[in-house]
Amino acid sequence: MTMQLAPAPLGARVTAFLGDHPGRLLIGGRWKDAAGGETFATLDPATGTKTADVARGREADVSAAVAAARAALEGEWGRMRPADRGALLWRIADLMQEHLDDLAELETLDQGKNLRTSRFGEVPAAINQFRYYAGWPTKILGETIPTSLSRTPPGKEVFAYTRREPVGVVAAIVPWNSPLIMTAMKLAPALAAGCTVVLKPAENTPLSALYLARLLTSAGLPDGVVNVVTGYGAEAGQALADCPGVDKIAFTGSTAVGKRLVAAASGRLARLTLELGGKSPAIVLPDADLDVAVEGISRGIFDNGGQVCVASARVYAHRDVYRDVVDGMAAFGSGLRLGHGLDAAADLGPLVSETQAARVAAYIDEGRAEGAEVVTGGERSGPAGTFYSPTVVTGVRPDMRLMREEIFGPVAVVTPYEDVDEVVGWANDSPYGLAASVWTRGLSDAHRTAARLQAGTVWVNCHSFLGPELPKGGHKESGWGYENGPQGLENYLETKTVVMVI
Ligand code: NAD
Repeated sequence: MTMQLAPAPLGARVTAFLGDHPGRLLIGGRWKDAAGGETFATLDPATGTKTADVARGREADVSAAVAAARAALEGEWGRMRPADRGALLWRIADLMQEHLDDLAELETLDQGKNLRTSRFGEVPAAINQFRYYAGWPTKILGETIPTSLSRTPPGKEVFAYTRREPVGVVAAIVPWNSPLIMTAMKLAPALAAGCTVVLKPAENTPLSALYLARLLTSAGLPDGVVNVVTGYGAEAGQALADCPGVDKIAFTGSTAVGKRLVAAASGRLARLTLELGGKSPAIVLPDADLDVAVEGISRGIFDNGGQVCVASARVYAHRDVYRDVVDGMAAFGSGLRLGHGLDAAADLGPLVSETQAARVAAYIDEGRAEGAEVVTGGERSGPAGTFYSPTVVTGVRPDMRLMREEIFGPVAVVTPYEDVDEVVGWANDSPYGLAASVWTRGLSDAHRTAARLQAGTVWVNCHSFLGPELPKGGHKESGWGYENGPQGLENYLETKTVVMVI
C-alpha cells in the first residue's frame, strides 16, 4: 500500500460552480441564504481543507421549503400529463449525462471516493435511476373492481375503480456514502409518481445535490417541485421529519437515526420508508472459484473505503479454503494504492470525515485489545486527511462489536466454518438483514443457501450488484420497504377507491 496526494485539477464548470456561492438553499425555485444567515464548511476529506461554505438550514427554512413543495403539488406540476413528467425525467438524465464529469468531480471532492468509481460507477448509476423511472409515469394504473355489494339498489349497478395518486410532499433525507445515487433513488421515483420533494443532503456531502438541483431547473422542472435544504441532521433533518406538511419521509441512513424517524412520523402517521445499516455476510463454500470470490469479496468491503451499506463486512470461509481467502484478501487490500480521489493513480480515497476515520480506528483498537488478529492494515495512513488502510481481521468472536456492529470502514472480519447449517446460523445471527453473498459452483447449494439467509438481497458469485430495476431493502433492523423497481415507485403512491352507483 502506497500513499499519494496529487489531485488532478478541477474542470472549468466545477471551478465556476465552486466560485459562485454554491451552498445556498433552493426553495420555490429561488436560491437563498439560510433564514438565520448561518453557513458551515464542507471539506475535502483527503486534505482537510474547505471546499465551500454551505447554508445551515433550520426550521424556518424547512417550513418555507415544505410550503413551496405543497404549492407546487397543487400547481402546474399536479396537472402535468404523465408523458410530460416522463419526458422531463429523461431530460434530467440527458443533462446529467452532459455534466457527468462535473458531477463525478464534485462527488469525489466532497466524499473522497476514487474518481473512477464516481465517473464510471456512481454517476452513471444515478443517471440510470432517472432513465428507469422516466418510463413509469405512463404506466401507473388503477384497476376496475367487480363488486358484489348487498346494498346495491334494485335495478342499479355498482361500478368501482382505483386511482393511484402521489402521496404528496416527500422529505428525502440521504446519507454521505454515495450521495448522488442516494439522492437519485429518491427523486426519480418520487417525481415519476407526481410527488414534490424537499431534499436534505448529508452535511458532509452536499455539493453533488446542489449541482444536480441546478440541472433540474435547467431541465424545466417547475419551481418548488424539488427544494434543497442543506444543514445538520439534528437541525434541518429533524425539523423536516417533524414538519406537519410532510406526507412521507424517505430516509436512507443509520439504523439509530431511522428509529428516531419512526418516532417523528408516528405522531401524524406520516408514510415512512427506511433504508438502514447492515453487517452483510459473504459465505465462501469449499467449491467456490476462489479467484472470483477473493476479488469480489475484497471489492465488496474495500471499495469506497467500506462506506457501503451492503459491504461484505463478515466473511465466512469454509475451513478448507479459509487460509486462501484470508491471504488473498490481505494481498488484495495491501496492494491498493491510497490517494486523493482526484488522482488517477489512486485506487482508494480517504474516509469521508475525521469522525469516521476515528470511529474505524476505535473499533480496531478495541478488537485488538479483545484478542483479534489484524492480518493486514489496521492503521490510519497518510500525511493528512482521513485515510484508513484496508484491513483484514481474524480471531473475532461472535459477541465482539467488531463482529456485530456496522463499522462503515474498510474492515473485513474473516471466520472459518465447518458446515453449511452452522454458517447460515452465524450469518443470520445479526440484528441487520440488508444483504448477503454466497460463493459456490454448486447450483443447489446456491439456491438453498440464498433461500435461508435473512437478507433483502442475496448475491451468488458477486457482491454489491445493484440497479434501478432490482428491488433493494432491508429485513430486520435494516429497514422498512424497498427502493428500486416497481416497489420503489409504490413508496410514493396512495390508492384511492372510487365507488359509484350507476
Ligand atoms: P446518518 O443516519 O447519520 O445520516 C443520514 C442522514 O440523516 C443525513 O442527511 C443526516 O444529516 C440525517 N440525520 C441525522 N440525524 C437526523 C435526525 N435526527 N433527523 C433527521 N435527519 C437526521 O447516516 P450516515 O452516517 O450519513 O450514513 C451512513 C449510514 O447509512 C450507514 O448506517 C449505512 O449503512 C446507511 N446506508 C444505508 C443504505 C441502504 O440502502 N440501506 C444506503 C447507504 C447508507
